[in-house]
Amino acid sequence: MSIVSSMPTAPQRRGACPTLDAPMQTGDGLLARIRLVGGQLTPSALAAIAALAAEHGNGQVEISARGNLQVRGLTPASTAPFADAVRTIVAVEQGLVVETPPLAGDDPTEISDPRPLAAAIRVLAAPLHDQLGPKVTVVVDSRGQITRAGLKADIGLSASAPGRWLLTIADQSQNELSEADAPAAVLAVLRQLAERGTGARGSDLVPSGKPNTAKVSATIGVFNRTRGIAVGVALPFGASDSSALIALADLAASHGVAAFRLAPQHTLLAIDPTTGFAASTAELGFVTDPSDPRIRISACIGSAGCASGHVPARAIAEKLAASLPEGTHLHVSGCTKGCAHPRRAALTLVGWPDGYGLVINGTAGDTPQTVLRADQLESAIGPSGQG
Ligand code: SF4
Repeated sequence: MSIVSSMPTAPQRRGACPTLDAPMQTGDGLLARIRLVGGQLTPSALAAIAALAAEHGNGQVEISARGNLQVRGLTPASTAPFADAVRTIVAVEQGLVVETPPLAGDDPTEISDPRPLAAAIRVLAAPLHDQLGPKVTVVVDSRGQITRAGLKADIGLSASAPGRWLLTIADQSQNELSEADAPAAVLAVLRQLAERGTGARGSDLVPSGKPNTAKVSATIGVFNRTRGIAVGVALPFGASDSSALIALADLAASHGVAAFRLAPQHTLLAIDPTTGFAASTAELGFVTDPSDPRIRISACIGSAGCASGHVPARAIAEKLAASLPEGTHLHVSGCTKGCAHPRRAALTLVGWPDGYGLVINGTAGDTPQTVLRADQLESAIGPSGQG
């Protein structure tokens, strides 16, 4: 192990973009994001990373809403050993974030394979890397069964017809391009961002327009691949502890799964599992039904694993799931830091020393409308609770 790679790494401030080598400070320690080359990993690699998460972090592993693999609870001292160990298991991507759908190139319904374009953009963008902000994201969407529509992109290319791509900047439509012209057009936009500095985003280049209201694709269930199937299972509340993930990986291996692909909506797509895989993962507590209300709940570990937590947020979320009205997003937070969902939610329950703060259309850090007792929670979040 080199001296340089073993030195404690300066954590990024909250709101920056976490990486494996420069994790982000959160309420329960440092959060590292692992950008897997190709967005996939084997069951044994998943199990090994989960074990490392318990050894070097707090054992909590997440798949984010965009499909990023994240590990929580690292420390300044454990960051570098964790990163070194991860790199012995999987190849980690660096450079500009260029996202494609999880079934890209393997989806019988996609309009065009987005991978060659994505690869060309990564190569063209490499010299600009240090001049672009870490959050700048390019999405190349083939518009198949699982699209990336509904997820914000600084620059987007969306397949409009075979070999034709619609360019978007900050989700605002620009012009339609041929496949041959698209990489240079994206590079031109990246250069404009680079000229403005590392704080520039796509929204700085175009007048603000309609917000991106495209529906996010469903990722849970069975999807056809060009040859075979993929079965999507989501992590409850976007996270699992390492032992549950190791059990999932073992189950997948015993059902013939050669690889998982990371997908939006906190999902792992298991490639070609044998019969009974989804039912067995449901028994482990994973989400296999697209109507499962846990999909609409964000929750951190809370007091079950975080010293700042006043309440066991995830256990409470599990209890309240059945009471949550259709279409409502609930955030249950162990404290006011709101790690699981830093943005606004329709309903937020926040652990306070003396009860549960209820925030409507706000964040965990907002002043609660009221503070509830544990026995008032179900009726407060139920269909008639917020009138
Ligand atoms: S209790 Fe939850 S929100 Fe608070 S610091 Fe811990 S993980 Fe973050």
